[in-house]
Amino acid sequence: MDKKYIATPAKTKEILKKYQFTFKKSLGQNFLIDANVLKNIIGHAGIDKSTGSIEIGPGIGALTEQLAIHSEKVVAFEIDQRLLPILQDTLADYDNIHVVHEDILKADVQEVIKANFKDGQPIHIVANLPYYITTPILMKLLRERLPVESITVMIQKEVADRMAAGPNTKSYGSLTIAVQYYTEAKVVMNVPKTVFMPQPNVDSSILKLETRAEPPVQVSDEEYFFTIVQACFAQRRKTLRNNLTSHFKGTIGKEQINEVLESIGIDGIRRGESLTMQEFSVLANAFFALEK
Ligand code: SAM
Repeated sequence: MDKKYIATPAKTKEILKKYQFTFKKSLGQNFLIDANVLKNIIGHAGIDKSTGSIEIGPGIGALTEQLAIHSEKVVAFEIDQRLLPILQDTLADYDNIHVVHEDILKADVQEVIKANFKDGQPIHIVANLPYYITTPILMKLLRERLPVESITVMIQKEVADRMAAGPNTKSYGSLTIAVQYYTEAKVVMNVPKTVFMPQPNVDSSILKLETRAEPPVQVSDEEYFFTIVQACFAQRRKTLRNNLTSHFKGTIGKEQINEVLESIGIDGIRRGESLTMQEFSVLANAFFALEK
């Protein structure tokens, strides 16, 4: 990428100075200033000139600019009003960008997709997310089952590891199951702090989530399934049996819990972190059948 683009330290400083822009830590403002990292995000995002892109938090437009170049149209949600006139200036050369001044957590993304993209057009979400709300944003986007093919995001390394983890690892937990229920998750690349201005306190990774057409397991009730998964990880060092006993206190007794576990062939002395998503689904379905 050549020097005229926004994502260089010199150009970013120039824009910040021109507008006397001061970073708001409370909005997770860490702007990308490294062309190679942007190239990597764009390269993994699955976009081309026929696809639509959605960005969350365009900042001063470093990633937005590359999305405008490499996809058909970009819709970007930005909460910070101060950035709107800046984006109008920095992205003036592109006529395929629509900035929506809204909090992504409150936005009706389905509606925005309908209004901005062609019917059936492949859409990809691409973002350097504000770290203070990474998980709420991703869970909102996944739960709403948006018609998007993938989500490629820069997030904290620790959270990316949790989302892409496999069983029997320290990172594996209820967040892993929640994310992998909707998507296939993979960490694409780890990124040093030096690619941001200002530098964040934590290490970062690029995470790619590919939306599944169908969940990988069949559950009787999704909400119940996720509640049981959470209960099994409530105290990581405790056995499955003990976590379930605490969870069902007053409703299902120890004896009955043992019976259920035995009937589905899952050993109660195992820990939650050793269960596959398939096993969690069998477990949740068995207790659901008992309770309903
Ligand atoms: N995309 C730019 C880049 O890579 O240089 C900026 C990324 S910065 C990590 C996060 C951006 O998200 C900021 O522009 C911030 O103002 C914006 N933001 C924070 N909270 C938001 C929210 N709830 N909804 C929409 N945008 C938000």
